[in-house]
Amino acid sequence: MSRSRHFTRAATLRQTGSSVTIKHEDLGTFDSEIKKFDKERQNQPPTIARKKRNIKHIKLEYEDQDEEAAGAESVDISENFFPLYNKIKEMRELIVTPVDLIGCVKIPTLLKLITNHYKETGVIRHIEIAEISGLQDELKLIEKHGTDRFSRYQLLVTLLFSSQTKDEINFQVMQALHAHYLQKGYKEGLCIESINDTDEKELDKMIFQIGFHSRKALYLKETTASLQNGDIPDTIEALVKLKGIGYKMGHLILQGAWNKVVGISVDTHMVRLCNMFGWTPKNEKNPDNIRKILEQMLVNHKEMWNEINPVLVGFGQTVCTPVGRRCDLCLLSTIDKKNDVVCPAIDKKLLLRVQRGVEKDDRKIRGDIERLVEYKNS
Ligand code: SF4
Repeated sequence: MSRSRHFTRAATLRQTGSSVTIKHEDLGTFDSEIKKFDKERQNQPPTIARKKRNIKHIKLEYEDQDEEAAGAESVDISENFFPLYNKIKEMRELIVTPVDLIGCVKIPTLLKLITNHYKETGVIRHIEIAEISGLQDELKLIEKHGTDRFSRYQLLVTLLFSSQTKDEINFQVMQALHAHYLQKGYKEGLCIESINDTDEKELDKMIFQIGFHSRKALYLKETTASLQNGDIPDTIEALVKLKGIGYKMGHLILQGAWNKVVGISVDTHMVRLCNMFGWTPKNEKNPDNIRKILEQMLVNHKEMWNEINPVLVGFGQTVCTPVGRRCDLCLLSTIDKKNDVVCPAIDKKLLLRVQRGVEKDDRKIRGDIERLVEYKNS
């Protein structure tokens, strides 16, 4: 099956049942689990109670709002952090996810490809997500030239659009907006000048597919008008003062536009996964608090501040999704001989359904997990 087809449908991926192994003693013997499972299916009981977590935790203080101070103090890292994280990184090598192709940080380069093509041919090039893997050489060439004020601004715009909006929709809207302005005569398409020249209501109509589009149209107009020197700010303090920009976006802007890493960008997938793995205090849902915890945890591993967002977000978009996670494919559902670690939140029922061949799957997959399936089956 081609990679592109995975972006639209992956109908037969549950064929991994034969490879599912449950070895960890915490999971009980497989026979007894099967009996328990059958009994539960007959009685239709509520979900199996999750085994109590046994993960060391750290007491953290959140009083300090001083951004300079965030990350200054080191705290212990959960004992399962590196074993689980390294396994996720291993999986990320095997999968291609929306954030890898059309994540906000990728969008300015894709728009530059459209700009260059328009300048050469006078024709608007529409880029399909499925063709992006094949454009990597062209995209790398553009990235080699670094950022300019136009791509930096486009990164800010797409990040401002990104909350409550899927990457796929964000990319579609950004392409349409950029094409609109190129055709209107703006040499660099979507830029500070073109947005300043656009009426807020007109802008709102053009971005109607974006979540909270009216509010974002207002924020974009106000933010753009405040960029007096024709470029976006290059400090986190100045960025988070812009309308609609918080620390999650601010750190991604700094990293993508200015190549500065001064903090960790935390999104909803990361909040969910950090809670699930027990890396942060239970039920901590505030992304800013999770950001501070991670920065403190990884204060001696700052090389990870940049990578942890795409690693976890891509994993959360494809394998460990908010609904319909794929424990049957996940390498964390099998005990790691070297690290003696297994995911504390495995969906045991799903594993049993797959093992018994009763699980059917025709769900859409937001990414290409073909190589992970092959690896799991090998
Ligand atoms: S819940 Fe399932 S899919 Fe998510 S990390 Fe754990 S084993 Fe993997």
